[in-house]
Amino acid sequence: MINAKRGIPTCPVGCMYCMAQKIDIRLDYWKDVSRIGMNKSCTFFNRLPQDPPLSQMNLPWNLLEGEYLGFQGITDCFWDIFKEDLKYIVEKVKNSNIRKLCLISKIPIDDEQINILLPIKEKLIICYSITGLNDLEKTTSEERIDSLVKIRSFGIDAFPVIHPYIHGYCDIEKIMRLLNKNNFKDVNWKGFRYNQNNMKVLEKYIKKDILEQYIGNGKEEEILIGDDYLNRLANKYKIKFWDLKEYLHKEDKYNKLIVNCEQQEYIKKIKIQVGELAKQCVFSTSAKKTDVIENCINRRIANVEFNI
Ligand code: SF4
Repeated sequence: MINAKRGIPTCPVGCMYCMAQKIDIRLDYWKDVSRIGMNKSCTFFNRLPQDPPLSQMNLPWNLLEGEYLGFQGITDCFWDIFKEDLKYIVEKVKNSNIRKLCLISKIPIDDEQINILLPIKEKLIICYSITGLNDLEKTTSEERIDSLVKIRSFGIDAFPVIHPYIHGYCDIEKIMRLLNKNNFKDVNWKGFRYNQNNMKVLEKYIKKDILEQYIGNGKEEEILIGDDYLNRLANKYKIKFWDLKEYLHKEDKYNKLIVNCEQQEYIKKIKIQVGELAKQCVFSTSAKKTDVIENCINRRIANVEFNI
């Protein structure tokens, strides 16, 4: 379904606060330009439903050595229209030095998707947004926790991300209790981007004084309220907070890269690749572009063994 007013297709989750449709700055980034983005965590490829399949898009797979790759499809990576894209990405990741593939979803995973992803299970992190906002979304946080449990049972790294967190509306203690009951030890949380003009529907569900806290400077910044409360609950339920970037880059035997050249040669090659890639990227983050590029180089040269 295409949202005629916004021009971005509506994904089946239909979040009333949809970041793809209702946040103007996000929409502006992706409307006509590149489908490649870079942030402090990863390089990511996007595809809008009306775009050609990823296999027919001219993406720079040759510039991703040692990289962490994200695919969210601007909408949701587990929307079933993206199954062929998932197959294509898995082949690319399997046969390359891409370090990890990171997927973030709100759509419960099905058996076919799990089978597609299993060949790269050691190079994979699947995050589910666990929001506690069932009235505002067409899939529930409980279904997403079930998906995390299922994914984990196949030995895939399954990571809950409380995003967006709306303080005073989301029953976050219930979410933490559920995560603890299902033996999750790690979590990330992030705030909420609010556009009062595009999200009028939220006023039917969330009290005005809660929504007003998220207006901030009116520039749709992500605002996190209640961080202390979240930390107290995480401690109570024995769950560790991780910065998403640190969780993704945590060094383990699976993301160690073995390369057949000298260190200086590898670093030189990575700098050239990142420079080339940066020319094709959208920088959709508030961080400085130079910092994002430096970060990209550093994560690619970390945890490398030189086999010469
Ligand atoms: S899952 Fe993402 S893309 Fe889909 S409706 Fe929700 S915010 Fe929008």
